[in-house]
Amino acid sequence: MKNKYDYLLVGAGLFNAIFAREASLDGKRCLVVEKRSHIGGNLYCENIEGINVHVYGPHIFHTSNESVWEYMRSLCNFNHFVYTPIANYKGEIYNLPFNMNTFYQLWGTKTPKEALSKIESQQLQVSYPENLEEQALSLVGTDIYHKLIKGYTEKQWGKDSKDLPAFIIRRLPFRFTYNNNYYNDIYQGIPIGGYNPIFEKCFAKADVLINTDFLSHRELTNKAKVTIYTGAIDRYFDYCFGQLEYRSLRFEMETLEIENYQGNAAVNYTDRETPYTRIIESKHFEFGKQPNTVITKEFPAPWKDDGEPFYPVNTTENNKRYEQYKKKAEQSKDVYFAGRLGAYKYYNMDEIIQEAIILYNHIKHLSL
Ligand code: FAD
Repeated sequence: MKNKYDYLLVGAGLFNAIFAREASLDGKRCLVVEKRSHIGGNLYCENIEGINVHVYGPHIFHTSNESVWEYMRSLCNFNHFVYTPIANYKGEIYNLPFNMNTFYQLWGTKTPKEALSKIESQQLQVSYPENLEEQALSLVGTDIYHKLIKGYTEKQWGKDSKDLPAFIIRRLPFRFTYNNNYYNDIYQGIPIGGYNPIFEKCFAKADVLINTDFLSHRELTNKAKVTIYTGAIDRYFDYCFGQLEYRSLRFEMETLEIENYQGNAAVNYTDRETPYTRIIESKHFEFGKQPNTVITKEFPAPWKDDGEPFYPVNTTENNKRYEQYKKKAEQSKDVYFAGRLGAYKYYNMDEIIQEAIILYNHIKHLSL
């Protein structure tokens, strides 16, 4: 039947979950098509040993946007988790982000004045940094660069720091207080019970097809008046302007018969030799007391067509290519491209929620 639904939502990630929620509150009907075997996009959690394991990388909700925070609180209860990752450099432990605790661990400095003078004495004096290494050295000096930035960044990008552009690190925030809270936002937390119940609520009134790649079933657009596509924009257009580049990740999960492996949700391995960038122990997101634990090692990986695109590589060339796709997308009738893959942009969750609400209200007014 033609137009049985108001909206066809391609992708069951956060963007479309919020869109579906808004639509269902207005009595609109949605058909959701998801190529994975589950809803939830990259926020999906798998319950292992009673622990909500973040399967596609750790997700901490944080925002300074009051209305987004209230919106999320209407969907879940947050716990009091605060993200305080630590760094392990060849067995030495440092607090992150760079703050007075880190400076004390590095140099034994106790006051902001002592720490600042230590940093300044190590900063590289250069007017126009030509690569990431020069940029980082000019901002943070040698010790922080060599122990906490160089190896981690090289693993993340799969390149030597001297071959990476300076713009990747525009500024490195220092905190001259003893404060290990990674985020500056007013609100943060983890939904009690993980993220999955949020998606179950949002999609409760929608029809959902999982294990279905929309691009092999484009005829589904005939079932709805409007399509919201949150998959990769270049793939939708059969790569007609070439492929957009991504960095990917590979996750290795392990169940351990011990209660507590590393005493923290996230430990970053900042040396070059350890092949993974961090280990996540998901039970600490929810202060779990389960007898066993699950750890996830995160390995940065080159992206290939059949892999998961995680981080857009926003070089000038890729951005130009994206602009071509965007223009083409604007000409597509009744199809809107959205979310992190549709917009080829890294978004935090709070930004995605805001964008989804804005798009829903925009489309709703068009059809009034
Ligand atoms: P997604 O969640 O990726 O959803 C898109 C969905 O579309 C996917 O399920 C995909 O399978 C599906 N899909 C794609 N193509 C097709 C197709 N052709 N047919 C059918 N389905 C398709 N944000 C924070 O605020 N805090 C964090 O701590 C945080 N941590 C992150 C950690 C990592 C490793 C990464 C990569 C991101 C992190 N983010 C974090 C960002 C967060 O993941 C995004 O804001 C959010 O997932 C974006 O939602 P989305 O709906 O756009 O995309």
